[in-house]
Formats: sequence, structure tokens, C-alpha cells
Amino acid sequence: MRFEIVTIFPEFFTGFFENGILSRALAKGLVEIGVRDLRSFTHDRHRTVDDRPFGGGEGMVLKPEPLAEAFAAMGIAPKLLIALPDNAPTPEIEGGVPDSSAGSETGAIRPHVVLMSAQGRPFTQAIARELTTREHVVLVCGRYEGIDERINELYCDEEISIGDYVLSGGELAAAVMIDATMRLIPGVLGNQASSEFESFGAADAEIATTDAFPRSQHGAGGLLDYPHYTRPAEFGGLKAPEVLLNGDHLQIRRWRREQQLRKTLAYRPDLLEDAALSKEDRKILSAIRAEKQD
Ligand code: SAM
Repeated sequence: MRFEIVTIFPEFFTGFFENGILSRALAKGLVEIGVRDLRSFTHDRHRTVDDRPFGGGEGMVLKPEPLAEAFAAMGIAPKLLIALPDNAPTPEIEGGVPDSSAGSETGAIRPHVVLMSAQGRPFTQAIARELTTREHVVLVCGRYEGIDERINELYCDEEISIGDYVLSGGELAAAVMIDATMRLIPGVLGNQASSEFESFGAADAEIATTDAFPRSQHGAGGLLDYPHYTRPAEFGGLKAPEVLLNGDHLQIRRWRREQQLRKTLAYRPDLLEDAALSKEDRKILSAIRAEKQD
């Protein structure tokens, strides 16, 4: 899978590529990442990428021309041109959007172009999974007040937000999306099951067993993860839960499931609405709710 990042701060990503799972995924060739420096698509002495907003108001706006040139360099044409029938004359676009083949001559699939934006659809694990089905994803990082809206209309397939807050730029958001997505690509994690059984993992229905507890020792997805413990068995005056030390795997699964339900009920009760809950799960939830009322 290939990610391409368009940014005015390419150096932002340097350390990000060099550590942990992502650096191994890059080394194994499971993920490729390209960074396009928007300033290299400018033609003035000051390498200007921004301009004042039409209509006045605060801040600056990323100019359309360097962005359009960055897309052309990636072989991505404006969407409106692609949608035209073969025999239609190519329209004149004021300001001269650079012509590009968009892969149509090479037969390549058009990359999926995402604009990082506080106004976009909220990023979730489900969207990360969806992105892994794409071969090539371009992430456009805004700055200042954002990018000229015509670039959004002409080139972007969707806007994605990483949360209900405003960042100074799209770089952190792009890094978050790449991190969450690449770890779901088969082969990236040492044990692929890890991503199915952590918070927001695969649907419970896919992994539930007849004894109503997920098969994995790690617990199941859709819900939040359960707490983890490692050696020593006692730390800071607190003991690791006895059940985890006694080797009874059914008991461990049962305990972990209950912890997941407790945590999800406490922090993200909304997730329970879509989770595939077994009869046993519902009994545990009722017991937890009853406990709270006592
Ligand atoms: N004027 C914009 C607004 O009110 O929505 C905010 C612009 S913000 C200061 C600059 C850039 O940061 C945006 O163009 C976008 O690329 C990025 N950004 C800010 N918040 C974001 C979020 N929650 N998710 C993804 N990208 C974000």
C-alpha cells in the first residue's frame, strides 16, 4: 500500500518513519510512503504557498496552483476532467490546471485522495480498515485557514477529521491515519490477530465461540480492550488479578470479557449499541449495572 503526503513541512515526518512498526513495514516493502513538499511546486523567489482569503477575514489560505502542480506530478488529474466522456472537448480551466493523465493511459487506478480537515468524516478503526483495501492513498495536509476549496472540489475524494478539535496543520492527522491504517495491513504486525482482538477490533460475531467468550486469549473487538498485566505479580502494593495467574483459560476469557464490558460501559457506552453481544454478555452487563445502582 502506498501513502503520499502533500505538505509544506516534509521534515515533520522524518522521525515518524524511522521508528517501530512503521519502519519495519517500510523495510519489508509492505508500506511505501512518499512526501511531496508543496513548496517545490512554487515558482517565485519566496516559494509562496499561501495568499490572503477572498472576502477578507483572518489568516491565509493555501493557494491552488502549487497543490494542482503537486497532483499533476503524482499523475492525478482533476476529477471533473476524468468524468467527461471520451469524445468531449477538454474544458478550459481558468488559471490553467495542469494537464495530467491520471493514470488513464497507464491503466493505473486513480489514488484515493483525502483532505485532512476538521470538517471531515470522523476517522475510526472502520475507516482505517476500509483504507487498507486501497492501493494508493494521497493525504493532503492543510495549514493556516485551510486549502483553496476548488482543490477540494477538483481533486479530493473525501475529507477526514481525526477528532472534534482544530490542529494547526494536517500533518499530525495524516501521521495518525497512516499509523492506524498500516498496522492493519497483513504482515505488518508480528501477530496479525493482535489487531483483531484489540479495542475496536473485528466484529464479535466473527470470533465468538459456543461458550460465549471470544476464542482469543486477548478478548474481542467492537468493545474496548481489557486491562493488561505483566511481571512482577505484585507492584506498588497492587497484585495482578489472581485469575490471570491460575492458568484456567476459560476463566481468563470470562474475566477479560467482563473487563471489556465494564470498560466499554464506563467510557464508551455508545459502542455497546453496535456490538454483537451474547446472552452471557448481556447477563454480565445487567449485573454491572445492578452493582452501580446498589
Ligand atoms: N479553518 C479550519 C476550520 O475551522 O475547520 C481550520 C484550519 S486548521 C488551523 C489547518 C489545517 O489543519 C486544516 O486545513 C486541516 O488540514 C488540519 N486540521 C485541523 N484540524 C484537523 C482535524 N481535527 N483533523 C484533521 N485535520 C485537521
